[in-house]
Amino acid sequence: MQEGKPYNVVIIGGGPAGLTAAIYTGRALLSTLLLEKAVPGGQLNETDFIENFPGFEEKTSAPELMQQMRKQAERLGTEILLDEVTGIEPTSHNYRIKGTREEFETRSVIIATGSRPREISADGVGRLKGKGVSYCATCDGYFFQGKKILEVGAGDSGLTEALFLTKFVESVGIIVRHQRSDPHALRASPILKKRVQEHPKITFLWNKVVDKVVGEKRLTGVLLKDLTTGEVEEVKVDGLFINIGHLPETDFLQGTLNLDEHGYIITDDRLRTNLPGVFAAGDARIVTSRYAQAIIAAGDGAIAAIEAEKYLS
Ligand SMILES: Cc1cc2nc3c(=O)[nH]c(=O)nc-3n(C[C@H](O)[C@H](O)[C@H](O)COP(=O)(O)OP(=O)(O)OC[C@H]3O[C@@H](n4cnc5c(N)ncnc54)[C@H](O)[C@@H]3O)c2cc1C
Repeated sequence: MQEGKPYNVVIIGGGPAGLTAAIYTGRALLSTLLLEKAVPGGQLNETDFIENFPGFEEKTSAPELMQQMRKQAERLGTEILLDEVTGIEPTSHNYRIKGTREEFETRSVIIATGSRPREISADGVGRLKGKGVSYCATCDGYFFQGKKILEVGAGDSGLTEALFLTKFVESVGIIVRHQRSDPHALRASPILKKRVQEHPKITFLWNKVVDKVVGEKRLTGVLLKDLTTGEVEEVKVDGLFINIGHLPETDFLQGTLNLDEHGYIITDDRLRTNLPGVFAAGDARIVTSRYAQAIIAAGDGAIAAIEAEKYLS
């Protein structure tokens, strides 16, 4: 706990970026506080397994991986407190970090608050997330080998993910809320549209939205509603991939840091924000958010910590 002296570093967010930053600042012997508003571990707490994080021959439990990262950060000296940060305020020499319960003074800050996939509100989607409902084709496509799936998302990234998924699955049905005749139904580049339209594994379900997902322990089907007739029909599938964008967790930084039009934190290539001594890492940052992968967020965390150390010395 803080006793008079400011921390060297306060890290906001306990996902792969924040915990990796903590491992590095701890090993640099910098007094470090990490503030996490929910459960340390971040988005990976929401999935069962991870198979593309180096160092594990077999797929490994994602929450267990994050537990290990947390223990490693704590062993190296980081103090972890559960609180939501609501603001950062420059003081004469340092920064005041405002939590909902306490305030902390620090010489430098690493923001690693991540992002969350934009969700759809259909019945059952939350309950079956990670159990057939996925927001990440790169992460989960491999688990759907030979399966039938549906996909929501007809923009560039949705269609790119649909093509990627054809490597694994038997078929992909892309759900589009517009009529086939609508020239803006697919909001993607012409070449991508052509590839998707000509792909033998891909079909389109026009003028439909997801009404409900069904299944007890895992998803077994999706109820689709026709937007003209209102009719609902069940399609039996093993997976539903949703790709309608992400939302950065940066509302509390509006007016303090430079953010892009979607709210992602703008940094230079040394992860410095517009405020001296304030760094950003992971999915909340403009460049990293394009990839939304744990290993990349962790790499960002390491860079931000090394830069914070340079700033402080
Ligand atoms: C279902 C799912 C499966 C995935 N599978 C894989 C996979 O297989 N492989 C892979 O590489 N990637 C996977 N990802 C993506 C990966 O989880 C993210 O890219 C990665 O977690 C980003 O790390 P981060 O530290 O930047 O942010 P996050 O993991 O989002 O962590 C940010 C943390 O900050 C906290 N926070 C936010 N705001 C505040 C605040 N104001 N105050 C305090 N704390 C705050 C949040 O509670 C959160 O714990 C998956 C994601 C999801 C959702």
